[in-house]
Amino acid sequence: MVEEYNEVERRASKRGRQDMKITVLEKTEDTLTLRVEEVRPGLMNAIRRIIIAETPSMAIEEVVILENQSPLFDEIIAHRLGLVPLTTNFDTYVLSSECTCEGAGCHLCQAGFTMEVEAPEDGFLATTGDLKPQDPDTVPVSDKIPIAKMAKGQRIVVEAYARLGIGLDHAKWQPVSTMAYKMIPHVEVDAKKCDGCKECVNACFRQVFKMQDNKAVVVDEMNCTMCNLCVETCDVQAIKVTYDENSFIVTIESTGAAPPEQIVEKGLDVFRKKYEELIKLLPGRAPKVTAKPKAKKAAPTKPKTTKKKKTTTKKKAPKKSKTTSTKKKAASKSKKKKSK
Ligand code: SF4
Ligand code: SF4
Ligand SMILES: [Zn+2]
Repeated sequence: MVEEYNEVERRASKRGRQDMKITVLEKTEDTLTLRVEEVRPGLMNAIRRIIIAETPSMAIEEVVILENQSPLFDEIIAHRLGLVPLTTNFDTYVLSSECTCEGAGCHLCQAGFTMEVEAPEDGFLATTGDLKPQDPDTVPVSDKIPIAKMAKGQRIVVEAYARLGIGLDHAKWQPVSTMAYKMIPHVEVDAKKCDGCKECVNACFRQVFKMQDNKAVVVDEMNCTMCNLCVETCDVQAIKVTYDENSFIVTIESTGAAPPEQIVEKGLDVFRKKYEELIKLLPGRAPKVTAKPKAKKAAPTKPKTTKKKKTTTKKKAPKKSKTTSTKKKAASKSKKKKSK
């Protein structure tokens, strides 16, 4: 097995392996566009899938309904709260499956919220702005996300608990709304063949061409989707569309959980750990990468609860069932809902 692995490495280095090159093309608060060169499609796709499905973020996982007079069922409110994107500090929490509390929920793996709202008028909209977070680093990315429309005097009182999770378990834990790439296109026009018919300019919906001195010229090659419409339209075969299979344009759009560059960094960290695990399985191969320092844990925070909420403080067995549960208390009839 080691010989086979060494042979693969030897052949790879013989082909002239080059270092990956990354150029930032565009960066906004939530979106990052990169040009990534000298990377194979398989590796690029692995990074894409890890960022989507295995890079953690915070999402509400458990909701305790203390009072609900709104027209929505408890389950719908819990579900809506679960889908609210939350800001995530990657260094603060650990996955509950890796926590010392063994998934019961503690300050190391969960952040609490409370919400107590009474509609002052008909048509009042309870929003994420009414959620009161206990950890200022874990808050809804917007305070305008609707939760329930209520009639005058109706009340909603809930406690909610957010946990770190991964998209592989539920899409609500995906830190990105988009993580996509395309190979870098090359569009060429043979000016000697071009007869200036303008058909390619009309056919291309991405405005890649324009006419200049009665010839088609390429003005925005990166905008090309490689649909080949122009090639099929050109009767004199003057257009050639190709691509570089080891270079990509990568777009990462964050849900707001964290800045996109932090999500990429965290995703690559997850990838590194997977690589280390894999390399350990190869006999005689020691990992060549150095371990990153352990994440800093947040100082313990004690949830603040109102008098009524104290009556419903969660008492959980160390290992919880994943099914939706309803907890009835003699006094408050509160209900605890999974937000999935
Ligand atoms: S379709 Fe072909 S011939 Fe016509 S303008 Fe475009 S490149 Fe030139
Ligand atoms: S392949 Fe499609 S997108 Fe690209 S230049 Fe031709 S028509 Fe435009
Ligand atoms: Zn814990």
